[in-house]
Amino acid sequence: QEGPTTGPARRRLGVMGGTFDPIHHGHLVAASEVAAHFHLDEVVFVPTGQPWQKSHTTVSPAEDRYLMTVIATASNPQFSVSRIDIDRGGKTYTIDTLRDLHAMNPDAELFFITGADALSQILSWRNAEELFSLAHFIGVTRPGHVLSDDGLPVGKVSLVEVPALAISSTGCRARVARRDPVWYLVPDGVVRYIDKRGLYRDG
Ligand code: ATP
Ligand code: MG
Repeated sequence: QEGPTTGPARRRLGVMGGTFDPIHHGHLVAASEVAAHFHLDEVVFVPTGQPWQKSHTTVSPAEDRYLMTVIATASNPQFSVSRIDIDRGGKTYTIDTLRDLHAMNPDAELFFITGADALSQILSWRNAEELFSLAHFIGVTRPGHVLSDDGLPVGKVSLVEVPALAISSTGCRARVARRDPVWYLVPDGVVRYIDKRGLYRDG
């Protein structure tokens, strides 16, 4: 018998934030693994506008990062891409991403996916306490980083082991600058797009 608290199951929406400069198979495997493990209905990739931690470095134009993210995710019916952080303008803070996604999907349960490196920084993010009221956080393993929920609120964070892919966007950019291949580190269409637009060649 249905009690008063039983309703239709809420849509489970994964959120994969990143600079995606460029998007690579580490991002895609993390999202795919978490989607399967947590029975997510969809994972939305959200390329940052100007990332606040990276304001000192040069980040590729938002439209290039957005298009590479679309190219990389287009064939997966569970993956989508949101422009909210790009279109908001200014620096990107995850608290704004989650507030906006919550407002646009009031009935959905949000799962924010983050690699071990980013998870360890989370308490330094803006409005850290409110972050955990808006989404459940899922930290995934990443080679070279320790995955830990030390100091994070109990019950708000899950840790997941995913296949280890020692790939980073920084490494991909450096390879292109040295004229080394990025085939099989990023999706084929992203290799072509980087080449077509001449991204990362000048280091
Ligand atoms: P950069 O070197 O420019 O910082 P990146 O490879 O770290 O790029 P980001 O766009 O900064 O990519 O990362 C977005 C999210 O994806 C972060 O939560 C990050 O921890 C996670 N992530 C990136 N690469 C991997 C990987 N190889 N395995 C697991 N998680 C990853
Ligand atoms: Mg990074």
